[in-house]
Amino acid sequence: MSETAKVETRQFDTEVHQLLKLMINALYSNREIFLRELISNASDASDKLRFEALTNEALKGLDQDLGIDLQFDAEKGSLVVSDRGIGMNRDEVVSNLGTIARSGTRQFLESLTGDQKKDASLIGQFGVGFYSSFIVADRVTVETRRADEPADQGVRWVSAGDGEYRLESIEREQHGTTITLELRDEHKDLLNRWQLERIIRHYSNHIAFPIRLIEAGKDEESNTVNDSQALWARPKSDLEDSDYEEFYSSLTADPEKPLSWAHHHVEGSQRYSLLLYLPGQAPFDMLINRDEREGVKLYIQRVFIMDAAEQVVPRYLRFMRGVVDSADLPLNISREILQDSPLVKKIRATVVKRSLDLIEKLAKEGGERWNRFWKAFGPILKEGVIEDFEQRERIASLLRFASTHEDSEGESVGLDDYIERMGEEGDTIWYLTADSLKVAQNSPHLEAFRKRGIEVLLLTDRIDEWLVSHLDEYKGKQLKSVARGKLDLGDETDEPDEASKELAGRIKQALGEAVGNVQPGTRLTESPGCIVAEEAGMTLQMQKMLRQAGQDVPETKPDLEINAGHPLLKAMAAVKDEKRFGELSRLLLDQALLAEGGELADPAAYVRRVNELLVEALTAAGNGHEDGGDGQHAASS
Ligand code: ADP
Ligand code: MG
Repeated sequence: MSETAKVETRQFDTEVHQLLKLMINALYSNREIFLRELISNASDASDKLRFEALTNEALKGLDQDLGIDLQFDAEKGSLVVSDRGIGMNRDEVVSNLGTIARSGTRQFLESLTGDQKKDASLIGQFGVGFYSSFIVADRVTVETRRADEPADQGVRWVSAGDGEYRLESIEREQHGTTITLELRDEHKDLLNRWQLERIIRHYSNHIAFPIRLIEAGKDEESNTVNDSQALWARPKSDLEDSDYEEFYSSLTADPEKPLSWAHHHVEGSQRYSLLLYLPGQAPFDMLINRDEREGVKLYIQRVFIMDAAEQVVPRYLRFMRGVVDSADLPLNISREILQDSPLVKKIRATVVKRSLDLIEKLAKEGGERWNRFWKAFGPILKEGVIEDFEQRERIASLLRFASTHEDSEGESVGLDDYIERMGEEGDTIWYLTADSLKVAQNSPHLEAFRKRGIEVLLLTDRIDEWLVSHLDEYKGKQLKSVARGKLDLGDETDEPDEASKELAGRIKQALGEAVGNVQPGTRLTESPGCIVAEEAGMTLQMQKMLRQAGQDVPETKPDLEINAGHPLLKAMAAVKDEKRFGELSRLLLDQALLAEGGELADPAAYVRRVNELLVEALTAAGNGHEDGGDGQHAASS
């Protein structure tokens, strides 16, 4: 055996090397997480054995004695974590413990900033796995054998975390994995019963396999530390808030408490248990990563089957966390079958309903907890209005926006609040979309509404344009953009006079192809002009978003509404010189575009025009002083 035992030394992938360095140097203050990670791996390996034993004859019966043992030896300075799970063969050891096997670990690496303090805090948000052993250990030995291989197929992996590892074949009677950590001196204080029990209870209390703690030389005193029952399967009356909170933290590794949860045992033609959590904070890549749905685990008769968020939660609820345990699905179900199963569809419908119940309850309660939820997940929930036709109105009722209403602060106004305030006769919910709250609040489009005391919702989130394009009605009221079409506020019916129409015609002629329509209107009281979108056309905001998303948006010409009563327009009407009139018209258009956060085709030309006017105005002011002024500046000439 010894001649054939393949011994080799291999280099870690560069990425692993980088990760290891970080582990050793920067994560000292988070050192305890290494145990959470090792126990979680042991638990995964036990789950896998149980799952494979369902279909693999060779594994039958091996899943009867699953559990995790922790043996510590203060004298030797070692900690040994063993499981009787699936184990690994040589190839698996190489790819799992020599490369960055898992996408989470890669993402962790990509998020590193180089700022040690920031990076250390990231670790709480990622499972960083096996390599975290090197936070506390200067030598790690893994001995393992895959449960369906013979005893001579064992593998030993040894590394000091310094760039390389050694691999050799060994005999191993026991299937599963044993990991031995030789702790650095400064971490040897971890090696006592009290410390280890505390850490296990804190991070791993709800691991579904018994975790035994054994002190070297005192085997008879070993005891089970955790609460290894499946919490979700227990009756609600047996459970305290603290049980739910602890389970949440072992399920998610989120250091925050959950905002709320729902626990149901559904009986009847289909039996399943459901435990859903609303988290208190978003993993920081949730918004960007629309496909990242890892939050809801599927169990069948308490056997972990897979992460099934994709099948049981819609995308817009991807922040939900929890467990679904079905008593009726077949244990050997595949992902594909799961996708089409009517049973799973039913579970999914219940998950949606119960999740919205939770969110509704929180919304009613309002206050700090609701605000926290809305800030973290509001933009994601909005996707539901677009994606889930059935629940559209229910989701819409949960949305909150900024508003021109004087008492509103931040995003706090719901569509129902708006409807309640607008009174019986109102039939339109007015909104304005803009890049930022500042741009929205100062938009010329609001002038007519302010004058009439009509509330306008201010929509400044990236997704809002999409949202309103899918939500043109809510509870029988129309949602309309203040920047679109002819504005009918029901009070002023007076047709614009001939002089205004003529002025608009002259401006259109001067601007030519640069503009679509030019019309006198009722939107403005203080500004001279503003851009208006066609009734059915895209707003500027939408065009901008599409372009940013890399889409080809055909150039549409902006329509211009003018305020013929404004001093600037009155003065323009008196300008005879057509060239000068043209310059002023161009300025008017550019200003209207700018006020809306739009981009000018030729910003330099705009600046030149403004400067010419400034020089003119200042020179005129200088002359003015000479004629009839107080003479303060005139003295110099
Ligand atoms: P993750 O658990 O997120 O995949 P880890 O770094 O913790 O990442 O582990 C990497 C891989 O190593 C695991 O996916 C698993 O395949 C393997 N592994 C780690 N520990 C064990 C173990 N105790 N038994 C079997 N396989 C293991
Ligand atoms: Mg892991």
